[in-house]
Amino acid sequence: ERDCTIEIRIVPYAFGQLLILGRDVTQISRLNQMRKDFIANVSHELRTPLTVLQGYLEMMDDPDMANALHNKKAIGMMSDQCERMFSLVNQLLVLSRIEANRDNIFDHLVDVPAMLLLLETEAEQINSDRGHKISFHVDHDLLIHGVEDELRSAFTNLVKNAIRYTPNGGDVVVRWELINAQAKFSVTDNGDGIEAQHLSRLTERFYRVDKARARSTGGSGLGLSIVKHVLAHHRSQLEIESVVDEGSCFYFEFPAELVVKRQKRSKSA
Ligand code: ADP
Repeated sequence: ERDCTIEIRIVPYAFGQLLILGRDVTQISRLNQMRKDFIANVSHELRTPLTVLQGYLEMMDDPDMANALHNKKAIGMMSDQCERMFSLVNQLLVLSRIEANRDNIFDHLVDVPAMLLLLETEAEQINSDRGHKISFHVDHDLLIHGVEDELRSAFTNLVKNAIRYTPNGGDVVVRWELINAQAKFSVTDNGDGIEAQHLSRLTERFYRVDKARARSTGGSGLGLSIVKHVLAHHRSQLEIESVVDEGSCFYFEFPAELVVKRQKRSKSA
């Protein structure tokens, strides 16, 4: 069952008659609603950290409250909130760049193994206070046609989520492999998992399973919608398998026409 919006216009017609015109504007009104929701969400996401910042500034301005200990705590909290706003604005910029990008993916060749090597280092840095065991299994000859910045965003978001939504000391396994001529990327964790009813909505902008907890983990709520856009541009789509309290696997496959095997340099050259 789907709602539908019809715009009715009544216009004068010949011989004193009236003409009734109907137009299906369901799609237009749906897009308008999405735009309004999006602006409301962004405003809300920015308002919350700004309110916290303002609160701490007022506290620091109050001579009774402003002592060295309080100030140190306040500065720490304020810098967390700034980081949160930066992360949101950066993700918004990535999203709008992807949406505007009409680059032909076949114009570029992306060295995914080199990208994953850097991502592994970054993941270990983020992991320093989480204590997960993170392992990367990478086919070093597997390259693809695509847009490097976009792919980096997609891979990074999935790895960061696995780290973020797995209780300390978990296992995160990242794979980049050739399967049936397709290039498959997967991130498996043994973390929180996700209830089935949420799965189809996860790639919506700002959709979070547990809003309070997701917020405290510092995400922007845009990560998976970025992944979805990037994959659509690369002829692929995100698949999710998940069991609550057991873990999740986020994966996708790039079609064979995007796959390129690295040319081995011949020794005589
Ligand atoms: P966020 O910035 O909140 O992480 P995302 O779009 O990246 O936003 O993810 C949306 C939601 O999907 C998260 O808030 C979280 O509830 C859920 N999620 C994403 N990845 C995982 C994961 N690996 N394990 C469990 N839940 C996850």
